[in-house]
Amino acid sequence: MIYEDYYIFTPGPVAMSQETLDIGAKQTPYFRNQPFSEVTFRCEALLKKMLNAPEGSKVIFLTASGTAGMEATVMNLLTKDDNALVVNGGGFGQRFVDICAVHNIPHHDFKVENTNLSNISDSAPDQDFTALIVNAHETSVGHLYDLQALGDYCKKHSLLNIIDAISMFVTDSIDMQKHNIDVVIASSQKGLALPPGLSMVILSPKALAKIHPVQSLYFDYQDCLKNAERGQTPFTPAVTIMLQLHARLEQIERDGGITQSIENARKIAEYFRTQAKDLPLKEYSRFMPNAMTTLMPTDGKSATDIVNDMENDYKIMICPNGGALADTVFRVSHMGHMTKDYTDVLIKALHDYYGKS
Ligand SMILES: *Cc1c(COP(=O)(O)O)cnc(C)c1O
Repeated sequence: MIYEDYYIFTPGPVAMSQETLDIGAKQTPYFRNQPFSEVTFRCEALLKKMLNAPEGSKVIFLTASGTAGMEATVMNLLTKDDNALVVNGGGFGQRFVDICAVHNIPHHDFKVENTNLSNISDSAPDQDFTALIVNAHETSVGHLYDLQALGDYCKKHSLLNIIDAISMFVTDSIDMQKHNIDVVIASSQKGLALPPGLSMVILSPKALAKIHPVQSLYFDYQDCLKNAERGQTPFTPAVTIMLQLHARLEQIERDGGITQSIENARKIAEYFRTQAKDLPLKEYSRFMPNAMTTLMPTDGKSATDIVNDMENDYKIMICPNGGALADTVFRVSHMGHMTKDYTDVLIKALHDYYGKS
């Protein structure tokens, strides 16, 4: 099979644990029954616990990749009477801008560069907004925004705070109550280290109150919430990924909870960055999350060539940045079932590549 024996350091999909792989190899069970409802309820409870969701929050499971969670949230929570401040620091911020445009949601395209927005109170445009929409970790460039500053800004101006946490949940800190967050969008194939195809949207009571009827059968949050009361989804869910999610969340709980999961990611990222210091590579972002390292070659080598050489000569998958940065910056993910030993494979390969082994 393609890439089966490759080492995976791409920012999604990511390396999965043996437990997750084993569940994926089994038959898919029937799901309109109490045992499966219990799985859904348990996933909901664990997600809310890990995010410190406020009392009365609810979780919606969508059988689709993360972008569906982004689009469905905009459709179900915002209307033409809103005005959304959309942080656009790269490809994923642009996606939220495009979603708002498609659904005729008034919005401001807030282009930002090389900032973690800790100064948002001063830098945001002076308009009457009703919502803030942000990708907590802008994966296209590797910037992690300051969730506390964003949350404080939302509280001060009474904005609905919508956070796409897809590429930082379980590797970096996010707390719905501490950071005044109303919506968290997560998906399966990043830090959660599951196959792609499942999105989770965690909604605070304030967000739940904003839900309204939509022109969509499949992405209707009212229908989703009605079914969620009995631990079900309106249509066939990604049953196997739900079972894998359940196992993965229990695994995180068993291994010390979300705090430990974040600490592990922090240590791995720090280890990798320290070990790469003697190579002709420079860190691109000043605001890197634990989830990912962005590196720039300082010896004139093309980032895309390095990515291709790693794949062809070492069976290691890393990833160039998108767009204009493709030749100057590449990305190394620390998300997933990541260990020091696994990271050593990449560190050794890079040293060998630069003749430093
Ligand atoms: C990966 C990712 C998504 C989701 O992309 P899909 O291809 O739809 O899974 C959304 N936001 C961010 C920040 C991401 O990194």
